Amino acid sequence: MAIDFSFPEEIEHLRVKVREFMEQVVRPAEEEIDANEDDRSVLVKQVIAMRKAAHEQGLWLPHMPTEWGGMGLGHVAMASVSAEAAKTRFGPFALNAQAPDEGNMHTLLHWATDAQKQKYLKPLCEGRARSCFAMTEPDVAGSDPTLIQTHAVEMDDHWLINGHKWFISGANGAQFAILIARTEDDPEIPQAANSAFIVDIPSEGWTVERDIQTMSGGHNHCEIRITDLKVPKENMLGGPGQGHLLGQARLGPARLAHCMRWIGQAETALNLTIDRAMKRFAHGSMLAEKQGIQWMIADSTMELYQSKLMVLHAAYKIDNGHDFKSEVSMAKHFVANALNRIIDRAIQVHGALGYSTDTPLAQMATQARWARFADGADEVHQWRIAMRSIEAYSKTGSVSGAAGDLPL
Ligand SMILES: Cc1cc2nc3c(=O)[nH]c(=O)nc-3n(C[C@H](O)[C@H](O)[C@H](O)COP(=O)(O)OP(=O)(O)OC[C@H]3O[C@@H](n4cnc5c(N)ncnc54)[C@H](O)[C@@H]3O)c2cc1C
Repeated sequence: MAIDFSFPEEIEHLRVKVREFMEQVVRPAEEEIDANEDDRSVLVKQVIAMRKAAHEQGLWLPHMPTEWGGMGLGHVAMASVSAEAAKTRFGPFALNAQAPDEGNMHTLLHWATDAQKQKYLKPLCEGRARSCFAMTEPDVAGSDPTLIQTHAVEMDDHWLINGHKWFISGANGAQFAILIARTEDDPEIPQAANSAFIVDIPSEGWTVERDIQTMSGGHNHCEIRITDLKVPKENMLGGPGQGHLLGQARLGPARLAHCMRWIGQAETALNLTIDRAMKRFAHGSMLAEKQGIQWMIADSTMELYQSKLMVLHAAYKIDNGHDFKSEVSMAKHFVANALNRIIDRAIQVHGALGYSTDTPLAQMATQARWARFADGADEVHQWRIAMRSIEAYSKTGSVSGAAGDLPL
């Protein structure tokens, strides 16, 4: 039998090491940051200390190859690291494996020229720079990148770009952006209209108009006005018309990386649910002894288990060079929804306490809400999943190939 769900010893060792790092280094640093939330110098000092400790303990840049200073982990191994790291707020950042930089590093590794890698990827890997990814626009549906209006016109020695973007995570403080803009007026297929560019920040013509206030506050998701922005020709990333391809290649593994972090969050919420249920007494017994509460715990436990299996299988497919589009799509949809349900049940079991900001649940709930539409809305994933199922059935008489292509 080739199926073996145990991790190799070195990965299991690494998982435990990451867990201990989060408990011993990141959690105390977070407590210090929270106790001094008005003093930014404490935040800066603690972030530097966490990152220095990650370097010293050999936990820096887990997702990148060793020649770029990383740990060279595959996606299955990354699942265990990311799920542990995401049990804390600053964990992924401490390891330099945070969104959107993680996805941008993969993108640059695969699409950038050697010169672009030296200029943009190297400082990102070394933790000396931060980046953002600018695709979504306020005036057209982000779910359909063929509608992108930001356009780039080729001039003698540069591209001239005009447009409007929003919800660009990490734009404030980023040293560069990967920007998607329309370059082709008459593409062979609608998906080949866009190209990608690397934009130095600051640049004349790139203006952060505001940090958009969301239901969970301001988290550096910015609105950007792009006016007569000049981008040197050598800063095109990939070829003309390859923006969509690059976006898709980036989003596949990046979606799964989100799922890995969501698993960490979901497990935290379920742990809190059980902890509360074991301590709260009502109507003659502890909450944990009541069947209605046990059903919630059981549902959350099963959904966490399903989430882990789906993520591990999709990661296995990426690591082994198989087509992973369906599995990542199904995992992204399932884990995003499971996360929201698991956090919601946790809030229910906590009662008023769960609605307060005395536990992390309220913050987790508002953060989790975007998981259902960002990086591919639920309905778009469902549409794609259904199309693949119909195609598989039409071609082979069975949906099996689209349902994970498992030997069952
Ligand atoms: C916290 C956060 C961070 C983000 N970070 C970034 C970032 O760094 N860079 C970036 O470029 N973008 C970012 N985004 C934007 C995100 O990628 C978009 O929100 C997403 O692509 C959806 O686009 P939209 O918001 O325009 O929604 P729309 O495309 O307008 O979709 C709205 C709704 O319409 C429905 N819908 C759409 N298409 C279909 C369909 N075919 N069938 C049925 N229903 C459909 C879905 O219910 C969907 O939720 C971020 C968003 C959030 C909330």
